[in-house]
Amino acid sequence: MSNDIYNNVHDEWDREHLWHPYTSTIDPLPTYKVVSAEGCKLRLADGRELIDGMSSWWCVIHGYNNSEINQAIAEQVSKMSHVMFGGLTHDPAIELGKMLLEAAPDNMHNIFYADSGSVAVEVAMKMAVQAAVSRSGSHKKTNFVTIRSGYHGDTWNAMSVCDPVTGMHGAFGTALPIRYFVEQPRTPFGAEWKPETMDELERTLAEHNDEIAALILEPVVQGAGGMYFYHPQYLVEARRLCDKYGVYLIFDEIATGFWRTGRKFAWEHAGVKPDIMCIGKGLTAGYLTMSAVLTTKDVADTISRGEAGVMMHGPTFMANPLACAIAIKSLQILNSQEMTARVAHIESMLKHLLSPADKLEAVKEVRVLGSIGVVEMKEPVNMAEFQRRCVEAGIWVRPFGRLVYIMPPYIISDEELTTLATRMLEIIKEG
Ligand code: PMP
Repeated sequence: MSNDIYNNVHDEWDREHLWHPYTSTIDPLPTYKVVSAEGCKLRLADGRELIDGMSSWWCVIHGYNNSEINQAIAEQVSKMSHVMFGGLTHDPAIELGKMLLEAAPDNMHNIFYADSGSVAVEVAMKMAVQAAVSRSGSHKKTNFVTIRSGYHGDTWNAMSVCDPVTGMHGAFGTALPIRYFVEQPRTPFGAEWKPETMDELERTLAEHNDEIAALILEPVVQGAGGMYFYHPQYLVEARRLCDKYGVYLIFDEIATGFWRTGRKFAWEHAGVKPDIMCIGKGLTAGYLTMSAVLTTKDVADTISRGEAGVMMHGPTFMANPLACAIAIKSLQILNSQEMTARVAHIESMLKHLLSPADKLEAVKEVRVLGSIGVVEMKEPVNMAEFQRRCVEAGIWVRPFGRLVYIMPPYIISDEELTTLATRMLEIIKEG
C-alpha cells in the first residue's frame, strides 16, 4: 500500500490526539477512516468497501443511511431538534412512549428516557435503590447482586456490576462499590436445565437480602462480558427468588433488545417480566444516542412515596425529540416486517455458515442465537492483526479476547452474509 493510501485510511492526527475506546496513547491500535456508509457497507477513505459484521456495536439494525429514517430526521429537524424535558413535553416523546409500552412486557408502566446504555443502567440502579429503601424503610437496602461475566456499561455503577475479573475492577479497585457476584448461569441455552445453577444466587439472596436492592442481569445473552447464551429457565428461577427475598429484578436489554436474539426482547424466551428494564442501542437504529428505562407502576409509585418523593435524575438531552423521531421510525420499520422470520433466517444461515469452524483445532466452540454468531477460540485473538486481514478481505469484524463474532444489520443480503461469514472463517483458518 502506498503511503498516500495508508494516510488516507490511518489518520496520523487522529492517532496522535484522539482517544478511541479502550486505547493506549503510547501504542494505539490502528483505526480505519470511514467516509460514508450505506446499507451493510462501510466505505473507507481509500475507496474500499467493507461488509459490516458488527452493526456498529449492535445498534445499526436497519443498515446505514436508511432513507425512511433520514426522512423522519429531516421532518423533525424542521420542527425542533431539542427542547428541555423539565416542565415541557412533546409528541415524539409521547408517541415513542406509547410504542415502547406496546412492545414491552405488559407490567411496564413508566418510562424514563436517558442518554446512553450506561446511563440507563445508572438510572435503573438508582430507581431500584430509591424504591427498595422506600419499600423497606431501611437505608441498608442499597446494594446489588449480579452474575459473573456480565457487562453493563462504562460509567461508575454500571462498571461495578460488570464482571469483576474481565471488567474494569482491576483498574479502579476500591473506588468501585463492592457488589455481590454469583456464578455465570451454568446451563447453556439449549442444554438440559440443571437446577443447581441457582444454588449460589439463592444462598446469596437468603443471606444478604437485607442489603440488596436488586438483581441486575442481561437476560439470556451475556454480550461484551463473553458472548454467552444461557438457559431461559434461569430467568424464571431468578424471578421466583427475587420475589421470595423481596429484591427487585432488573433486565439490561440494551444489547439483546429489538430482535437481536430472535425475539423482540430476550425476556420473551422465558416469559418472565422484570421490575425494571433498560433498552438502548437498537432503539435509535444507530443514528443518535438514546436509551430508556421502563418500570412498573408499583416501582414508580414506591419511589414517589419515598423520602425524596421524586425520581432523582434529569439529563439535559432527556427525550431528545430528534432521537425520539428516529426511534419511532425504527420501531415502525420493525413493526412492518415479519421480524421473527427475518431473524430466524439469519440464524439458520449463520448456523450453516459458521458450523465448519467447529472442526478447527484452534476453535473451542461455535454458537449462534438469533442474529448473533460467535466463534470462541481456544487462545486470545490478536485484534489488530485480525482486523487488518478482515479489512483486506473486505469485511468488518472486531474480535475481543478469544471471541470472534458477527451480528450484522437485519437488512443484510444472503450474498453479503455468506461473503462476511466465509471470509471471516478463512481468516480464522489461516490462524
Ligand atoms: N449494557 C449492555 C448489555 C451493553 O452491551 C452495553 C454496551 N455494549 C451497555 C449496557 C452500555 O451501553 P452504552 O455503550 O450505550 O453506554
